[in-house]
Amino acid sequence: MQRGSSERELAARWEAEAVAVTKALAAAEQVRVDSGAAGEPERKTPEEQPKDPAPAQPRAAEEGDARVVPRAAAHAAPGRAADEYHSQRPVTVDSSKARTSLDALKISIRQLKWKEFPFGRRLPCDIYWHGVSFHDNDIFSGQVNKFPGMTEMVRKITLSRAVRIMQNLFPEEYNFYPRSWILPDEFQLFVAQVRMVKDGDPSWKPTFIVKPDGGCQGDGIYLIKDPSDIRLAGTLQSRPAVVQEYICKPLLIDKLKFDIRLYVLLKSLDPLEIYIAKDGLSRFCTEPYQEPNPKNLHHIFMHLTNYSLNIHSGNFVHSDSTSTGSKRTFSSILCRLSSKGVDIKKVWSDIISLVIKTVIALTPELKVFYQSDIPAGRPGPTCFQILGFDILLMKNLKPILLEVNANPSMRIEHEQELSPGVFENVPSLVDEEVKVAVIRDTLRLMDPLKKKRENHFPDIYTDRKHRFPPVSDRMPSSQLPVVRSQQLTKPLAAKEDPSDSEPASASDGNADPEAHLPSICLKQVFPKYAKQFNYLRLVDRMANLFIRFLGIKGTMKLGPTGFRTFIRNCKLSSSSLSMAAVDILYIDITRRWNSMTLDQRDSGMCLQAFVEAFFYLAQRKFKTLPLHEQVASLIDLCEYHLSLLDEKRLVCGRSGPAGGRPLDSGSPPDATPSAPPVEGHPPSCTNSAPKTAHSRHALS
Ligand code: ADP
Repeated sequence: MQRGSSERELAARWEAEAVAVTKALAAAEQVRVDSGAAGEPERKTPEEQPKDPAPAQPRAAEEGDARVVPRAAAHAAPGRAADEYHSQRPVTVDSSKARTSLDALKISIRQLKWKEFPFGRRLPCDIYWHGVSFHDNDIFSGQVNKFPGMTEMVRKITLSRAVRIMQNLFPEEYNFYPRSWILPDEFQLFVAQVRMVKDGDPSWKPTFIVKPDGGCQGDGIYLIKDPSDIRLAGTLQSRPAVVQEYICKPLLIDKLKFDIRLYVLLKSLDPLEIYIAKDGLSRFCTEPYQEPNPKNLHHIFMHLTNYSLNIHSGNFVHSDSTSTGSKRTFSSILCRLSSKGVDIKKVWSDIISLVIKTVIALTPELKVFYQSDIPAGRPGPTCFQILGFDILLMKNLKPILLEVNANPSMRIEHEQELSPGVFENVPSLVDEEVKVAVIRDTLRLMDPLKKKRENHFPDIYTDRKHRFPPVSDRMPSSQLPVVRSQQLTKPLAAKEDPSDSEPASASDGNADPEAHLPSICLKQVFPKYAKQFNYLRLVDRMANLFIRFLGIKGTMKLGPTGFRTFIRNCKLSSSSLSMAAVDILYIDITRRWNSMTLDQRDSGMCLQAFVEAFFYLAQRKFKTLPLHEQVASLIDLCEYHLSLLDEKRLVCGRSGPAGGRPLDSGSPPDATPSAPPVEGHPPSCTNSAPKTAHSRHALS
């Protein structure tokens, strides 16, 4: 109670301060208008323009600190005064909806010397931290730590579907995800495929894991040896689920199975920007592992690595050390593997590939959610999100994706049983070490005022690199900390990451607000490695076409007219594909998908149904090629015809691309269209980078 009320007082004081600043800035604004009227009207640089031209409270006036906008200074050079104010005021964070991440968030904000608003704020904040979803709050500006639709996208069924589309296109590249079937829809397929493989190889004795959709913390999960066991367990009658091949030979440490929780920051959707935390957590089982057999199938402490389950085992070991116990840092595992001669650079590189490929599988539909929740032209926040990737290392060190969490636990304490039945929350050092760094450094990367500070104190930021060369230049390699030695060199070669060479120093003292902080723990992996992965982004390009023809703002499904317009504008109908056949294709595929998906919000063709239709059209048109080349050729063809249409429109003086929404064409409006792919003879398109334009708005 005490703490709550003092925080409330503090918030009230900040609120009052902000209002005072609003007034001060309004006065400065007045001075500016006057001076403009007296002489040349003052031009603002793009940097100085408020981001949201929203009306009632210009951003510059919203979050101020009266101290730094002295009236005299404003009189002399009001633009510079506002700049100075922005470069010195603290970033504001609304933590009122942070829930279980609140403790780690508070520590992070304190370390950054930013301003927290634990009860929200009347005026807009720079950053909104949500514990659950994008929709926790109504926000119209700033940045929010969730993307719309992410929770839906990483549900077990949706993730499996998204990965399966990629597996169809690129089976080799996406073999890091176990073969999965969706229940109840694909039960017959599951039975048939298992029988087929068994018939071909009678020695195959598989195990499967059944996971209820939307479940978490191991809830409702069980292992089976035969498809018929599913019926016995009643899943078909109850919740939809995913049944998946069980990885029988995991890497063991101390005879125990463990998994890895890695934190991944999706900094922006378009352009795609991905960061991976250099350290994560390893969660251990609490019963020695044996390959599954009918006797041990039910031993959850042997097969499931969930912390929430194993904490209830008598064998769970709490430890203050990061390299022992039932929860350890991932770096301590790498350290141990390295000491046994394992090539940990390769392990880390494979993990980075897995993460990038998984995000590439998720982004197409996320874009559809995004344009539906934050339609172009309407005020809205930009988004970023920390994702929790659960990864299993196989005995041969190949990483396997288990699942992605939209709301990874950011708790930094754990329950401890003091005496039988009496529990208390105690700080967990391992959690704190990893999670606070992830939240703090996410905030640093999202810092909306960093640019302003860099402009205002250029010396500090440009000097830094010269004064502090990369750690690797300053230390003999034998002394490098293990985590640093894991940083990628090969096979994922790329430009040097600036964050790698920016260790902060206490001696920066005076004006660099990050001088007291360690170097950023999040490593950029995309676009850093874009060249190696861009060829995989075919569905992304299909999503751009899909969004272009959606028509009505806010919808996520394509109507029959939109689909017809797509066919017509991309010149896909022919004597062998009449418009009547197109209508039948639309009805068939849409009906099937709508009967499968639970989402009945609006009728029409969802993105996955569109992708299926697109595959069908591509296979018809470019018969002899492998699927990914057929699809790439059709995308090229569509983009080519659409860019021709856009050009025609420009020449006719009509703004925006033909056929759909303005300016979100599949190819850049100013690109000169190249020759279309000829049937059966596609241009060299399979490795081309996605030609997304989205100049209309960046998704984040
Ligand atoms: P939940 O969201 O309920 O935690 P997961 O998909 O993470 O569901 O599965 C729970 C645990 O089951 C994982 O942490 C892992 O230990 C184990 N597990 C899940 N899938 C597999 C698999 N395909 N092979 C082996 N173990 C698995």
